Amino acid sequence: MQIYTKILIGMAAGAVCGLLLGPRSALLEKDQVSALPAMLKLTDAPGGRPNGVALPPLPGNGRVQLRLLATHRAKDLVYHKVSLRVSERLALADSSGRLKRGTVVSGWVDVKAAGLGAPVSTIGATLIGWLSPIGEAFLKLIKMIVVPLVFASLLVGVASLGDLRRLGRLGGKTLAYFLLTTFAAITIGVTIASVVKPGNAISAKDKTELLREYKSSADEKAEQAAKSPSAAETIIGIIPVNPAESMATGNMLQIIFFALIFGIALTLLEQQRVKPVIAFFETVNDAMIVVVNGVMKLAPYGVFALVAQVVGQSGLSVLQALLVYALVVLAGLAVQAFAVYSSVVRVIGKIRTIDFWRAARPAQLIAFSSSSSSATLPVTMRVAEERLGVSRQVSSFVLPLGSTINMDGTALYQGVAAIFIAQVFNMPLGLMDMVTIVLTATLASIGAAGVPGVGMITLTLVLTTVGVPTTGVALILGMDRILDMFRTAINVTGDLSAAVIVSATEGESPRYQPQ
Ligand code: ASP
Repeated sequence: MQIYTKILIGMAAGAVCGLLLGPRSALLEKDQVSALPAMLKLTDAPGGRPNGVALPPLPGNGRVQLRLLATHRAKDLVYHKVSLRVSERLALADSSGRLKRGTVVSGWVDVKAAGLGAPVSTIGATLIGWLSPIGEAFLKLIKMIVVPLVFASLLVGVASLGDLRRLGRLGGKTLAYFLLTTFAAITIGVTIASVVKPGNAISAKDKTELLREYKSSADEKAEQAAKSPSAAETIIGIIPVNPAESMATGNMLQIIFFALIFGIALTLLEQQRVKPVIAFFETVNDAMIVVVNGVMKLAPYGVFALVAQVVGQSGLSVLQALLVYALVVLAGLAVQAFAVYSSVVRVIGKIRTIDFWRAARPAQLIAFSSSSSSATLPVTMRVAEERLGVSRQVSSFVLPLGSTINMDGTALYQGVAAIFIAQVFNMPLGLMDMVTIVLTATLASIGAAGVPGVGMITLTLVLTTVGVPTTGVALILGMDRILDMFRTAINVTGDLSAAVIVSATEGESPRYQPQ
């Protein structure tokens, strides 16, 4: 059986396992809810007066897990009877003073007023928790290769270019292609969302519930976004003060900058002296590729664990509330993939659509399961060189840059999300607002790092620019992780299409090389 078939099976098995045995499984008893302690008012009876137990907030908006003992419904109101144990982390007091550690306190809470999360199963959470080290170990194994691989391959690529003008041309083409495809992506997203109007498909009840459940996480995202550096700071930030530090922290743009400068310097030296340096880094690069190939053998298990975790934690209930929205995002991503990438790869790259998709599959599967273009980078580079016949010079330049700044899927997603949130809040957006969304989402996607969930943080910047309340992010947070998987797969496909286009226009002849 081919390794990619095994990865697909791992993925499907992970999804089923997550759904059936995860914390939100319909088969397991839900006996746990999470809450923000500061909002909890325990009462002795449903709807009664608070019994005086005071719960101080936990650092960093931390939530507590409560045992769910019973549920009482009265008209539109839902009450849960919960209990919690006084611990070192959670110091409680009542009217008689501080409670002893280990004391169990119980009472009723109003689900709405307390902002309780949806009930989950403790057994499910434990089972999925056991899988987490497997997924994490797999991801770390690929991430471990990113820095040495990018540095070595880019250095060798630039040093062997010979002609610096070619480097400038390559850079110009790559950035132009990135911008054009990102632009196309958001325009597709904004258009479909404006026509289908997914915001009208969500019920008032779901709207209130989603806003309540995800409010604190949405506030956190807005806070994180507020801390992001200005455009000027970002540009200056590309120049490293200490390249060793850039490598230690994995700052991709700084690593690319330093490798470029180092590579250019090598081309200016006497070639006899440069040869051993290039040979050394070439060997480092090849060794890293051997590691990628080895790690890919573990992919079916890693992917199983990653997908089980995401599906288990997300559950299906959010999907029901946000179905139309999710379908709009998926439809937009499909248009970007099949209309934009397939046609340019076919027309300019002269590669048949089906072959391009077959070749790209390994990178797409890993991107999908990891939700991180950066973590997928070693696999993307291997795909470009070994399965699409792109030269190392092109792939080592286009792909690391692409995994950091070219995020078409993220941009499209932000376009749809901004329109969706505005529709739910009944805020009509004019043509100028749409143009603003296209422009800011382009910048926001460039600024988003290739790691899970970052597109959501930069989305708050897009919302602020068009005056849509950032609390609206709460509406879509529950669905974010799943959609992140799809948009990351598209991000990586976009990077691969860029490698093919640049390679073809540089006089190489990229083609599908089945393995
Ligand atoms: N997870 C995405 C990526 O790594 C970024 C995002 O959209 O959050 O490409």
